[in-house]
Amino acid sequence: MILVMKKAVALLSGGLDSALACTITLQLGFEVVGLNLSTGFCVGQGRCDTALALASRLGIPLRLLDVGKEFLEVVRAPQHGYGSAMNPCLDCRILMARTAGAVMEEEGALFVITGEVLQQRPMSQHRRALDLVAEESGLGERLVRPLSGRLLGPTHPERMGWIRREQWLDIQGRSRKRQLALAEAWGLTEFVQPSGGCCLLLTRPYAARLRDAFAARGNKALAEEEFALLRFGRHFRISPTVKVIVGRNETENAVLGTFASGRWLLSVVTVPGPVSLVEGAAGGEELELAARLAARYSDARPDEPVTVRLSVGDAVQESRVIPLPADDPRIARWMIGD
Ligand code: SF4
Repeated sequence: MILVMKKAVALLSGGLDSALACTITLQLGFEVVGLNLSTGFCVGQGRCDTALALASRLGIPLRLLDVGKEFLEVVRAPQHGYGSAMNPCLDCRILMARTAGAVMEEEGALFVITGEVLQQRPMSQHRRALDLVAEESGLGERLVRPLSGRLLGPTHPERMGWIRREQWLDIQGRSRKRQLALAEAWGLTEFVQPSGGCCLLLTRPYAARLRDAFAARGNKALAEEEFALLRFGRHFRISPTVKVIVGRNETENAVLGTFASGRWLLSVVTVPGPVSLVEGAAGGEELELAARLAARYSDARPDEPVTVRLSVGDAVQESRVIPLPADDPRIARWMIGD
């Protein structure tokens, strides 16, 4: 007789909680397929690699899916609002659960598991939020949180009699003591350390720049590449419609150069200095301010005139400017998120 194992899809982020949820489900005798979703807003590149290492350690296959486009729509207009920064966690979790549901269908799996823990995060992991994610993702009782399962509503595997309710755990709250003890007991060492800083939308500088861009341009008007550009350089809102972005190092200078299409590109010619971009309908006065701002971050002495080349499309011009003084109070006022 061939024994066919019942299959679950596990959202595997690379963090400890999802790895534990996966381990519990495997220990209960289910087959598990891991699923790692990339939003495009991860800080660092390590999570996907860590999810791969964890999947390999757990002996399960891992599917990698890019949900960046769908996620941008969520960031632009979250139905359930933003958290403490610009993180639309509830909508994000709904999107992830819904995507996992589609993979569940494809895989012929019977339920989805996540590492969510009741009350771990104030906005997205209280009881009502967990129920809402289950409901709005369309998964209902097929969305299972093994780490807190005993404290939540009944799940599909329980209803079907595949497991007993007490086989789920009853972890809740922000402390990670129990999870760390389980990780040690089960030899899980590869996970991304829980720091809360894994998502760009939670970081102050990025959130401030995004808020500014939405206010200046409207949430819907921001193109995909502009979300990426918010990661690089120092950003200055020098007028309601004009923003200047100044590279902070050689890598950022090179990156800013790739975003030049449709923007003024500024480079300091006579001394080493940053590459800068000007966004928006800048007039002569704003371009001069931008050139002086760029020169402020060059190697020029405070009162040394420097030449700045400004180009957009085929148009090139040069401007001789005095760098803005480092203590010009407008600089701090203009700066967004640093
Ligand atoms: S922190 Fe970022 S990735 Fe995590 S749930 Fe919130 S929006 Fe999604």
